[in-house]
Amino acid sequence: MGARATETTRELESTSIKYQIGGHTEKMWQRLKGILRCLVKQLEKGDINVVDLKKNIEYAASVLEAVYIDETRKLLDTEDELSDIQSDSVPLEVRDWLASTFTREMGIVKRRPEEKPKFRSIVHAVQAGIFVERMYRRTSSMVGLAYPAEVIVTFKIPVPNLISFAEALEVGYSKYKNPYHNLIHAADVTQTVHYIMIHTGIMHWLTELEILAMIFAAAVHDYEHTGTTNNFHIQTRSDVAILYNDRSVLENHHVSAAYRLMQEEEMNILANLTKDDWRELRSLVIEMVLSTDMSGHFQQIKTMRHTLQQTEGVDKAKAMSLILHAADISHPAKSWELHYRWTMALMEEFFRQGDKEAALGLQFSPLCDRKSTLVAQSQIGFIDFIVEPTFSLLTDSMEKIVMPLIEEASKSGSPAFGTPSQNSLGAVNNAEAQRRPSFKSASDGGTHTENSLATVDLTSFKDNLMKIIQANKERWKELAVEEELVKNVGEQETDQSRNSTEAQLQEETTRIQNESSQGGDGTACPPRSIVLQVVSFDTPLSDESNSEKCTNSDPNQKDLTDAQQETQNTDPLNGEPKHCKKSEDLVKATEQKEALIQN
Ligand code: AMP
Ligand code: ZN
Repeated sequence: MGARATETTRELESTSIKYQIGGHTEKMWQRLKGILRCLVKQLEKGDINVVDLKKNIEYAASVLEAVYIDETRKLLDTEDELSDIQSDSVPLEVRDWLASTFTREMGIVKRRPEEKPKFRSIVHAVQAGIFVERMYRRTSSMVGLAYPAEVIVTFKIPVPNLISFAEALEVGYSKYKNPYHNLIHAADVTQTVHYIMIHTGIMHWLTELEILAMIFAAAVHDYEHTGTTNNFHIQTRSDVAILYNDRSVLENHHVSAAYRLMQEEEMNILANLTKDDWRELRSLVIEMVLSTDMSGHFQQIKTMRHTLQQTEGVDKAKAMSLILHAADISHPAKSWELHYRWTMALMEEFFRQGDKEAALGLQFSPLCDRKSTLVAQSQIGFIDFIVEPTFSLLTDSMEKIVMPLIEEASKSGSPAFGTPSQNSLGAVNNAEAQRRPSFKSASDGGTHTENSLATVDLTSFKDNLMKIIQANKERWKELAVEEELVKNVGEQETDQSRNSTEAQLQEETTRIQNESSQGGDGTACPPRSIVLQVVSFDTPLSDESNSEKCTNSDPNQKDLTDAQQETQNTDPLNGEPKHCKKSEDLVKATEQKEALIQN
């Protein structure tokens, strides 16, 4: 009896040591299972004494701990991803930037309860759409809204509160006059989240409260962004950095300040939520917005990849965080014109931070030196190492979640699958329809289900995104050739080279302006202000030219660009409506342009 027990102990001991060093998790689990079963058998036979049993269980615990440590280490370890960045094909500056922006030394893994109670009221996807639309429309009455009566009746967010809240958000997003992190970015990300929820079919997996949380989180995710990075806050010991102890400084502020707005009764859009729903929504919003901190990027990707390999279901908050994170960096998955404009806006924002750093005697942060930053190279790195893997993971995750729903719905004839013939029979289960919100048009009495699971085509969704991302990367590669040339020559002829880069970018800007001024259907449209132009090379546009809209040529891009078209009467440079733009700003922009060219 004693001999056999000692054998088990020895086996456990060697297993423990071996696996602590080797870390073959799968085998380790198998052995541990075998050992525990062996112990159970010995117990059943009464073949083991209490002392040996205690010893063996302690060993088993230590092996278990080794497995846990090994798994945790693997999850926290982002070295695999980073080692690719070390490749010589990536310029040093871009490597530095990727490593410093998208990683952090100490990953904090948070957990939240797996399953939460279901929420059955407030808004569904249509109402979420209204939320976005109204947020960017200055109107104080319901007159002229053509929403179905049942939508208005069930819309439990008090409309005046929503208007006040949306207006306060606009003010906050315009506070620092950022070229990139302004209200258009908020609208863009919110609309993109909406697009992803519809076109992947993920909205059929989410409850109404979760859909509201997604839209709300997207809308507030950069509220009162200062136009400077977390690192800049930390280096300059800003008030927010001190307040949030250098941890996700801006993200903490965005969500906290947005919630502070709702403390005012007239802006409290969540007034009708129950206590539980309010807490549930808040927990989701906090997790999602904090996950937009780019320093957690590699960790987030790794954790989600790991989740997909498991047989268990996907954690809702993690999936929702991935959607928001993807939407936040989605402009490389949009048409070149949009992507280029967003990139140049972000670069200008980075450069302004660089100007501040220079004035404060600080070192330039990566990509913040307007005189030496390799824009095209950085974009290739950004797409290769950040954007592509994120969207690939997003589509894989959506597939894992949505495919079973599609199968289930097609078998059971669920309304979420809603083919017209099923609908014409009136086979709509009300409870199910409420749980899986779908847009019901007023004209068919609410029985026809658009955006149903039957219309979801994940393959096209993925192929389309990847095609656009690749095409954009190719455009940057063309520009990078010139950039590289300039860089090499630059060591001898600095001034001349810089002018050449600017000439190249200016050429691209002019080309885009010309392209933008033509609707895809060949209809001539007035030129739209593009960010880079306003920032440095632009000539002011007249008010009339801003009041008309171009139609988008690519139907696949339609939804992705709606928000930007909706809001194009707002200047992306400073977040203010264009008609309010002061002439001094334009003079300043022209001076900046001249200074930049002369530099
Ligand atoms: P957020 O600051 O929440 O909007 O997160 C988006 C972040 O992604 C930005 O702050 C940048 O760090 C990064 N990012 C987005 N677009 C680009 C781009 N074109 N090039 C480099 N970094 C980008
Ligand atoms: Zn953002």
